[in-house]
Amino acid sequence: MELIKCLIIGSGPAGFTAAIYASRANLSPVLYEGPQSGGQLITTTVVENFPGYPEGVSGYDMMEDMRAQATRFGADIRNGIITSVDFSSAPYTVTVDGSVQIQAETVIISTGASAKYLGLPDETKYAGRGVSACATCDGFFFRKKTVAVVGGGDTACEEAAYLSTLAAKVYLIVRKNYLRASDIMQKRVLENPKIEVLFGHNAEGLTGENKVQGVKLVKDLGLPTEEHYEREIDGFFLAIGHKPNSDVFKPWIDTDENGYIKTINGTPMTNIPGVFAAGDVADPTYRQAICAAASGCKAAIEAERYLNK
Ligand code: NDP
Repeated sequence: MELIKCLIIGSGPAGFTAAIYASRANLSPVLYEGPQSGGQLITTTVVENFPGYPEGVSGYDMMEDMRAQATRFGADIRNGIITSVDFSSAPYTVTVDGSVQIQAETVIISTGASAKYLGLPDETKYAGRGVSACATCDGFFFRKKTVAVVGGGDTACEEAAYLSTLAAKVYLIVRKNYLRASDIMQKRVLENPKIEVLFGHNAEGLTGENKVQGVKLVKDLGLPTEEHYEREIDGFFLAIGHKPNSDVFKPWIDTDENGYIKTINGTPMTNIPGVFAAGDVADPTYRQAICAAASGCKAAIEAERYLNK
């Protein structure tokens, strides 16, 4: 069985930064990219807050640069999804794509997080036909059309503001009577004439022949004023948060109640010696590319220290 010194799982900023540091430290890292090569940033248009890019950079280009930098120092980047792990004793056994088994002395988990859906059957029915969890990826298809965004946090406000630059009209469906987003994002949304915020609303279904043409709404759910009605829309965007991609590790690795990997005292260490977590899979709070990159760096340094012990 192949024995790897440092296995990195995931190909976002955390994974690639870990790969850069681990390869420069002669750990001969092997990085498995997972289902979305480049991670969430690949679907972002412009990244404006990553230091070093005064004019901003496309998420795609930034990830290509990180990959090239990791490759330059010898990181072995492979396609494949880790489908199960056995962390009962070191070296740890990991299964790739349900078939190939490899062993690793250290493991850096940087599998990121994925967008959440409401769980409505219509989200599956209309997948790729008007339902999306990424405005920057799919907004282009809704130029001069009407769209709805679900959520009241920073992501939802950011997506609504972005979509308002393309679409004719944007509904923001917010289940509470207030936005959870930061003040600046709230202001941007509330002052935007193209955005109509529907406070106290939930989406309960979608309508349309072969593609989304309407959303079924319920206002004041459970109150005497409860009201059900429909609005015509062409696109339905989810922005209700993210789920950390930690399921495969849960039999061994401690997670919090939302599935985020628990790390020890601000380090990337997990409850299993030699297994580290970096990036959004262990970050319920900040979820920023720069934070993910920084934690990937820390994880590689800790992996090196562990191997040297
Ligand atoms: P949040 O968890 O902050 O917000 C999720 C929103 O979705 C909330 O309004 C929540 O409603 C709503 N929601 C959740 N589940 C449902 C549901 N089943 N039905 C209807 N509504 C639902 O997630 P975000 O992705 O917005 O942000 C996560 C973190 O990332 C935050 O810390 C945020 O500040 C940060 N972020 C920062 C950005 C920036 O700085 N530019 C950009 C984007 C995110 P409720 O309020 O009722 O719970």
